[in-house]
Amino acid sequence: MSIVTDAKNGKVTEEMKIVAEFEDLDPEFIRRGIASGRIVIPTSPYRKVKLGAIGEGCRTKINASIGSSSDIVDIDMEVKKAIAAEEAGADTLMELGTGGDFLEMRKAVCDAISLPVGSVPLYQAFIEAARKHGSIVHMTEDDLFNATEEQAKAGTCFMAIHTGINKITLERLQRHGRYGGLCSRGGAFMSTWMLHNEKENPLYEQFDYLCEILKEHEVVLSTGNGMRAGAVHDATDRAQIQELIINSECAERAHSEYDLQVIVEGPGHVPLDQIKTNVQLMKIMSNYKPFYMLGPLVTDIAPGYDHITTAIGAAVSASYGCDFLCYVTPAEHLALPNIDDVITGVKTSMIAAHIGDMIRLGKRDEDLAMARARRDLDWEKMYEIAIDGKHAKAVRDSRAPGDEDACTMCGDFCALKIVNQHYDLAK
Ligand code: SF4
Repeated sequence: MSIVTDAKNGKVTEEMKIVAEFEDLDPEFIRRGIASGRIVIPTSPYRKVKLGAIGEGCRTKINASIGSSSDIVDIDMEVKKAIAAEEAGADTLMELGTGGDFLEMRKAVCDAISLPVGSVPLYQAFIEAARKHGSIVHMTEDDLFNATEEQAKAGTCFMAIHTGINKITLERLQRHGRYGGLCSRGGAFMSTWMLHNEKENPLYEQFDYLCEILKEHEVVLSTGNGMRAGAVHDATDRAQIQELIINSECAERAHSEYDLQVIVEGPGHVPLDQIKTNVQLMKIMSNYKPFYMLGPLVTDIAPGYDHITTAIGAAVSASYGCDFLCYVTPAEHLALPNIDDVITGVKTSMIAAHIGDMIRLGKRDEDLAMARARRDLDWEKMYEIAIDGKHAKAVRDSRAPGDEDACTMCGDFCALKIVNQHYDLAK
């Protein structure tokens, strides 16, 4: 029996109670959210994971992605990145390795952390086909479903599955063209396979079979975003919207007919003035399923700083109702992220999520506490409240002030200290 079935039957489970306590919400609110498809709790019957809720009324959650590439295969390094992501504050972790031994990598990562782990099974199916038969186009439909099952049994809690790329989506993509090409690996693999083999996407065509596998292993379906724009000039184009329509239909069927927990993924590269439209479209079309935003990057001209271009878009997205943010690191578009990139990506996304939650959920208590701590020059309190107090302390300590109360920015002429010494502004 799935957690959705329990929720639909009116049962409040232990998982619902645990996440409700963290979110400071009524467990009944969580139950209703799961029953209606607006909240998910990723878990796995194969490993114990840290429980968290994603969706309506819950704090915006952060995903960090790690994984090898064909150029850099270092399982120890990926495990260290996974641990660093968890310690930095990520809520989930996607293991997206495309180099080396898939099973060994995933097992090592799952053993090292307690976060819910996500994956993209089609990477494994296509890459193994390329290794065995010389090209991704030789993948078989069985390869896809076998990889999905294998990854579920390895403890994957949620999977990005590219159900929305069908022949119509692909026709729209080709007819319309793209300034920035197709940036999704899943989208590139599947569309190339479909065109070469002149076949429909098996994940779309055999959607019922897919749902049965996911249900058996209690995996959250995250409808993949293979048509996301890789350039702001391609944002919100017809192929992206076509994929969203199909994904929304699949999401609805998975939840209503199979009692699956479902997340709907979204773009990508999106200019600021199109974010509200994208969030609203995603929410309305998917019947308010949890929305997983991959970015969004709001400009294309800042490689090396794409964690910042993403944080700007992510904060705005979260303020409009996006529930789940996939981080972007400073290495985006340039290289496989290292440990420092992972930490920076997580922290930057946490800032974006908090800014969004200040608007969407009205969560401003921590900002009020920080205001008072700053006014009172209570440095320990400031470090305690800060998203990265350790970093904040290290910066101040690196340029130690002459006056313990102040900092080296204004030194003897600390505005706060001067006012505190002469009159009282406390409230
Ligand atoms: S020295 Fe200036 S920047 Fe530093 S705490 Fe005082 S007012 Fe703020």
